[in-house]
Amino acid sequence: MNAAEKPDWTIEDSSDLYGFERWGNDYFGVSKAGNVTARTLNAEVELMEMVNGMLERDLQMPVLLRIENILDAQIHRLNMAFRSAIESLGYRNEYRGVYPIKVNQQAQVVEEIAAFGARYKHGFEVGSKPEIIAALSTLEEPGSIIICNGYKDQEFIELGLSAIKLGFVCVFVVETPTEIPIIIERSRVLDIEPVIGVRIKTTANVSGHWNSTSGDRSVFGLTASQLVEMVDLLKMEGMLHCLQLLHCHLGSQIPNIQEIRSGITEVCRFYADLVKEGANLKYVDLGGGLAVDYTGWGSNHGQSRNYTLSEYCEDIVDTLKTTFDSYGIEHPIIVTESGRATIAYSSILIFNVLDTTTFEPTRLPERTEGESQLISNMRDIYSNLSEARLQECFNDAHFYRNEARELFKRGQLDLRTRAIVENLFLDLLQKIAVITETMDRVPPDLEGLKLSLADIYYGNFSLFQSLPDTWAIDQLFPITPLHRLNEKPDRSAVIADITCDCDGKIDRFVGEEEEATVLPLHALREGEEYYLGVFLVGAYQETLGDLHNLFGDTNVVSVRINRDGSYEFVKEMHGDTISDVLSYVEYHPKEMQLRHRNTAERAVREGRISARERQQIIKLFNESLNGYTYYEKEE
Ligand SMILES: *Cc1c(COP(=O)(O)O)cnc(C)c1O
Repeated sequence: MNAAEKPDWTIEDSSDLYGFERWGNDYFGVSKAGNVTARTLNAEVELMEMVNGMLERDLQMPVLLRIENILDAQIHRLNMAFRSAIESLGYRNEYRGVYPIKVNQQAQVVEEIAAFGARYKHGFEVGSKPEIIAALSTLEEPGSIIICNGYKDQEFIELGLSAIKLGFVCVFVVETPTEIPIIIERSRVLDIEPVIGVRIKTTANVSGHWNSTSGDRSVFGLTASQLVEMVDLLKMEGMLHCLQLLHCHLGSQIPNIQEIRSGITEVCRFYADLVKEGANLKYVDLGGGLAVDYTGWGSNHGQSRNYTLSEYCEDIVDTLKTTFDSYGIEHPIIVTESGRATIAYSSILIFNVLDTTTFEPTRLPERTEGESQLISNMRDIYSNLSEARLQECFNDAHFYRNEARELFKRGQLDLRTRAIVENLFLDLLQKIAVITETMDRVPPDLEGLKLSLADIYYGNFSLFQSLPDTWAIDQLFPITPLHRLNEKPDRSAVIADITCDCDGKIDRFVGEEEEATVLPLHALREGEEYYLGVFLVGAYQETLGDLHNLFGDTNVVSVRINRDGSYEFVKEMHGDTISDVLSYVEYHPKEMQLRHRNTAERAVREGRISARERQQIIKLFNESLNGYTYYEKEE
């Protein structure tokens, strides 16, 4: 291809820019037509095709799209990676995974995990009575493990004992010493032998956002002396043989593999000594922590990870094997509670862009005779634009712009002149920003210039409802357009949601090697929707979301992709209606309708509207109550 034929932008350029290969775990790609695809089972489906399918079914944006196959594949990969590490390293026991329900408790997700995990006897980790009830009603495979963490009252313990009767391996992980007598008492009364685990506090502090879940200050787990007391109590009660599992949870999203290794080494020491004490330990449960590389940087940055899934499994298996071999202890069953890594990839938040604001000059009139001195001064700055005098130009532009505002305030400058000055000002800043891009050392004042001139893209979603971690803990999620990837994205943007909260914005993005303050996007086209996807949002986002501004749950669509590249909507759930969200905050929609009708009737009585107008007004009110809380486009 000669230079003239080479297009100036290709789908490969987009793929590289947005980083699908870096963070997508092989699940996402770009089609020849420039659309983002989901890849699974050797098939590839354009997400835009699914979006069109949703719109045909009256599922309005925003929509949370779940791709079943990706969840299926993640459970498969996790189990297979452990199996292969166990085999290659000669570990003499098996791996058994459990999914922590708190990471995404939606019924459909939990049901899918039970179904896809059945062939590996993948179980559940539960932390409350509602969660154990969800687990008991979805798990089918006898022998699947249920790990009970959290504070457990008598009823919780009875539910767990009943699970043992049903054929599950239900383990009570003791988090506080007070639980032990209740477990002993209930199991005697019901005559069911319990399986007891114990959560220990490791001393290693791991990095990342959740580091406080491990270490001395962790609110969970027994200290060494509490552990000794527990052993003595169980021994005295003749129940030490029930102590079968040792549990630790080093933290979530552990970016650094070294820390995982060193945490496990400490766990092994506890394990060995408990065996020496006479405990009948069979399981070592290493909790969650397997990280998701949200940024695709492959580094020990908090939102990345410096290891692959197989390295994670190999490191765990290798550390356990080496340590237990040196103590001459039988290899236990390895349990992990990976939540985030299991579920994050399968959900994508999709929304349309409603509008944009750009900070570009709109009108730059020709120089005219007798124009204001301020305008001429602004124009003169252009001739000085160069790297060497950039700061000076920047200062001058600010000076004259401020001057114009002052004069306007005092009535010495008219609105039109002020508008011209401000347009010239914006134009100058744009030009200065372009020059800074190629400078080796950008003056400090000019560093934030690009961000301050970025477009604002208004997305039809609520950050607080759908991406709470973006706001709460500065979580980064990859965001990309779902189409037009064969065109160069020549706008730089930040994203605002439709809540009227100034925190409802995204201005930190996944860049190629570091965080970026702006996201490259395409200019909107007249009469055409522009769709963005926020990826890797399956973990922790759905139920942490809140009703800020009363934007409710979004529509949810679950798809299954078939080997031949076809796909089906296996489930669609309409999000909250306005009536739903109002009742969450204790309004009574029926009563509201009644009162509104009375207000309308009074308006008829007092001659403000006709009876027919009353009907229209009431109809609008009632229809709105039953509508979606997000921005709806009229057909
Ligand atoms: C939250 C939690 C998990 C899940 O951790 P991930 O990092 O999401 O895998 C596992 N175990 C316990 C005890 C937890 O509290």
